[in-house]
Amino acid sequence: MATKAALETQLAVVAGFENPKVGLEQYPTPPDLAAHIVHLADLRGDIEDTTVVDLGSGTGMLALGAALRSPARVVGVELDPDALQTATNNARRVGASAPIHWVRGDATRLPLCLPEEQPVTVLMNPPFGAQRGNEHADRAFLESVASVADVSYSVHNEGSKEFVEAFVADAGGELTDAFRATFDLERQFDFHKADRKELDAEVFRIEW
Ligand code: SAH
Repeated sequence: MATKAALETQLAVVAGFENPKVGLEQYPTPPDLAAHIVHLADLRGDIEDTTVVDLGSGTGMLALGAALRSPARVVGVELDPDALQTATNNARRVGASAPIHWVRGDATRLPLCLPEEQPVTVLMNPPFGAQRGNEHADRAFLESVASVADVSYSVHNEGSKEFVEAFVADAGGELTDAFRATFDLERQFDFHKADRKELDAEVFRIEW
């Protein structure tokens, strides 16, 4: 298995959102965080020969990270056609060899019928529900995850652990790992006053 550092270097060419849409909470996952999640998932046996599904695939960062390892296939689901175009271009830049399918659709009403031969691992950095009118966006994504995944890795905003733990317990799953991540976001929306913004996040591994 290649190193985490090598993966991060390969993901550094992934371009961000061209015109980020605030209502869709389009924040790119930084390459170091994506490399961390994918490498950890691979070490745990959650990538090789699995179907990896990235919900709200955006720039493709997580999907492409997985595609650089040895999954059976990768599926990215995204609502925004512009983001899908960006992801397609990014796939070309990254040059991963695993088959990647980009699907335009609503991740909260999963438009997928997945092969049953391989286990399904979901990787996602969904909208946190931070924008008004979009509250509990991550809950709707988790409902989709519960319906398809054997294992998932998801990024949530700080302070989500209790909510996620309760959700997972209700669904009969188990939260096996939790770690914090701070990501440094470049200024992307006009309402951000500072040029850079640090976002505290939590990442959870869940067995469903
Ligand atoms: N992980 C991606 C994107 C994170 S931002 C990356 O690193 O680039 C969240 C993404 O979810 C955005 O691309 C947004 O357009 C998408 N999204 C928001 N609501 C969605 C929905 N209901 N269905 C599918 N995608 C959605």
